[in-house]
Amino acid sequence: EKLEADEYDIDKNLRSPICVVLGHVDTGKTLILDKIRKTRVQEGEAGGITQQIGATYFPIKSLQKLTNKVNKKHRYKHKLPGLLVIDTPGHETFTNLRSRGSNLCDVAILVVDIMHGIEPQTRESIDLLKKRKTPFVVALNKIDRLYDWNVTENMGFRDTFKNQKKHVQMEFQNRLNETILHFNQLGMNAELYFKNKSIKDTVSLVPTSAVTGEGIPDLLMYVVQLTQKYMIKKLTYLSTFQCTILEVKVIEGHGTTVDVILVNGKIHEGDRIITCGLNGPIDTTIRALLTPQPLKELRVKSEFIRHPVLHAAVGFKISAVGLENSIPGSEVFICGQRDDPEELKERAMKDLNSILNDVDTSGKGVYVQSSTLGSLEALLEFLKQMKIPVFGINIGPVHKKDVEKASVMLELKPEFGVVLAFDVTVTGEAREYAKEKGVQIFEAKIIYHLFDRFTEYMKEVKENKFRQFKDKLVFPVIMKILPKSCFNSKDPIILGVKICEGSLRVGTPICVSSKKNILLGKVVSIQLNKKSIQVAKVSDEVAIRIEGSHYMHGRHFEDDDTLVSHISRVSIDILKEHFQDEMTKKDWKIIIQLKKLFQIN
Ligand code: GDP
Repeated sequence: EKLEADEYDIDKNLRSPICVVLGHVDTGKTLILDKIRKTRVQEGEAGGITQQIGATYFPIKSLQKLTNKVNKKHRYKHKLPGLLVIDTPGHETFTNLRSRGSNLCDVAILVVDIMHGIEPQTRESIDLLKKRKTPFVVALNKIDRLYDWNVTENMGFRDTFKNQKKHVQMEFQNRLNETILHFNQLGMNAELYFKNKSIKDTVSLVPTSAVTGEGIPDLLMYVVQLTQKYMIKKLTYLSTFQCTILEVKVIEGHGTTVDVILVNGKIHEGDRIITCGLNGPIDTTIRALLTPQPLKELRVKSEFIRHPVLHAAVGFKISAVGLENSIPGSEVFICGQRDDPEELKERAMKDLNSILNDVDTSGKGVYVQSSTLGSLEALLEFLKQMKIPVFGINIGPVHKKDVEKASVMLELKPEFGVVLAFDVTVTGEAREYAKEKGVQIFEAKIIYHLFDRFTEYMKEVKENKFRQFKDKLVFPVIMKILPKSCFNSKDPIILGVKICEGSLRVGTPICVSSKKNILLGKVVSIQLNKKSIQVAKVSDEVAIRIEGSHYMHGRHFEDDDTLVSHISRVSIDILKEHFQDEMTKKDWKIIIQLKKLFQIN
């Protein structure tokens, strides 16, 4: 395999680890990757760095040169054949990709802006990395932005730090401490990488600048060490085949193709492959394995090079018929002569099928769309925790037909007539159609942003509903008057009460239960411990103010009378139709009780 250098002391049994770069937007993820690639090119030759599909491959030769500045006497021996870095930085879904239950990515670089510390997306990335047990190192980026920073291009961090003035060093230390504190607040230890004595439970921070290249050699060196030290077992070259789809793309002249990362094993043109499709398993034969042309070869017409065979780890494109419905994040299986295709199909569909189990296509719920199998799974898990039902799912860009499906809900439960679009694009046609139909599309690249927006929207929907039915809405409540706590006996009646069953809301009309004709009026305010509240719950003792009748405490009702909400046929119907979510089983039992009292059929 020509991608691997033979002349180095590499362990032939190890494959190249796969690295992903992630972090909050604008922290410098893209620039760090660019810097690593360009430094080599600027310093004379590309050193065998190859642009692959969705990934850049750094062979050992270039890694050694890139880390020279912090490994001057070559005391540290590189054993790995190289490093495969996934190109689309920050793509949340790449961290979420799994193959055979383990991570697709062996190691991650989490970029944090030293001027900002931990930001929302940083937290989300950390959660993901922890969940997937992916080792990671933090690039504490943009050190050159510290006031008065003295630049020495591409220098190792410790050397350049020595050259800084005292006040710069102090500002650095302050910002470093703040970041460490942020990590502590998240329940993690963090330390400058060369001071970290306990890599297993302490996050290493490598100060970098993607603009000046300072600290970048340290960063690469650390990634190599981290993988060599702790991941040899995982990196031992297996003959078992392991391959995951990153993206599905239509390419002129090739039809629908899939971009994949081969983590383990090898793959040939003509192999029969089986993978997961949205409408069932895909069973096809590889027409071509493609990687991009090297940049220099401009004479060549075709955009891609064809390979008869490729070895892990490598990113490339598969061209084959029938890949239209394939799903990013799913595994590709090779079906050899001795394999049972039916069994492979079952395995290929397993993840999607288990996701579909959580979706109630006949029920009421939202429509969810996501970029990959992994991100869809994460989103559904989240919605389940938040008790938001889902009735439909899809993967890939939101098209008009998706909005059509979501719009079905407008009749069943209007507030669910929405699309939650996670990390996917929305076509213009879909957007127009959604506007026309009144289907809201919520878009976000971060799960909890999506969730925040949706909760905000549900809150609005709820408030509107309460406003709409304000005058006729009555929730069930049964209350006792507290002894000797009548503060005003006639309009406004002011009483201390205890909520025995149900809940009391401002606006509720109140009757005396034993004398059902006595309507005392409406509750205009509730106070709990001298603070105004909108809703009092079971066993709360509150002061209430009732306005709107001529009835008097002490004459028409007494301390031992029970007070109840004045329900009617109309109010019950409104609860049934619009406020099911607000009602518990207990509440409905109280309704039955009150129905008898008011002789409602
Ligand atoms: P991404 O969104 O994380 O991929 O961030 P980019 O790589 O696009 O960088 C965001 C902005 O920060 C760009 O304007 C970069 O030029 C700038 N930037 C990135 N890294 C550095 C750095 O180390 N130092 C300085 N001064 N600017 C940086």
